[in-house]
Amino acid sequence: MRLVTVGTGTVALTAERSRSCQWLEAGSHRLLMDCGSGTAQRLPALGLPWPLVTHLLLTHFHPDHHGDLPTLFQAWKHGMMTPRSAPMTIVGPVGTWGLLERLAQAYGDWILAPGWPVTLVEIQPGERLSVGDGTVIEARPVPHTVESVAYSIERGGRRIVYTGDTGFDAGLAAWARDCDLLLTECSLPASMPVAGHLTPEECAELARLAQPRHLVLTHLYPPVERVDIAGIIREKFTGPLDVAFDGFEVRIEEGE
Ligand SMILES: [Zn+2]
Ligand SMILES: [Zn+2]
Repeated sequence: MRLVTVGTGTVALTAERSRSCQWLEAGSHRLLMDCGSGTAQRLPALGLPWPLVTHLLLTHFHPDHHGDLPTLFQAWKHGMMTPRSAPMTIVGPVGTWGLLERLAQAYGDWILAPGWPVTLVEIQPGERLSVGDGTVIEARPVPHTVESVAYSIERGGRRIVYTGDTGFDAGLAAWARDCDLLLTECSLPASMPVAGHLTPEECAELARLAQPRHLVLTHLYPPVERVDIAGIIREKFTGPLDVAFDGFEVRIEEGE
């Protein structure tokens, strides 16, 4: 699997960090996890083949995680030499169909019937969604908004967990236990805590409990970058650690 953190920022707009988006290549699949505002600019800027997305996964309904969905649909419909015909699967929490219906009321029915086959899956907690080619997607509710979920992507004996936006949850850590890569939000410093988001201290505790083989932090508000994030994490988790940036890339070789 190959993960590229396309957008590592938040609703606090900065030039360096676009809103949340992750690109994940898993076998023959190309998954986009969240597509916050700015995604449509970052994907081509990073040289990622945006026409070839096979799966779109949404963690929750804040615009910094899905704001570029209409722009992407418009690009796939009108922005390619040959309009898209390849099928696409959209995976999201319960309520995703309603979100698409409301977007269609604003933009037009082409959101629901864009001209290529779209399968919508409102994934249930604990459901294991096999999407073919040996890739399995799972979701777990997280404490952020009522619909918010984290995702697990498994393939070839390897597992990536992406928290989306979340508050601290020991159950989430247990669910992510021993994953190969834990991509977690790390929003704000402990001096500015906000319910439904994590501080570096909470990320450290999450990692201590989950013991991922690689910890990667994303969704950073500017104030959190003024504290010693790595130093705080190191007090509880000594495994491989990266603070992501837009375009940060990790490859995970498949196991036996
Ligand atoms: Zn967010
Ligand atoms: Zn959010």
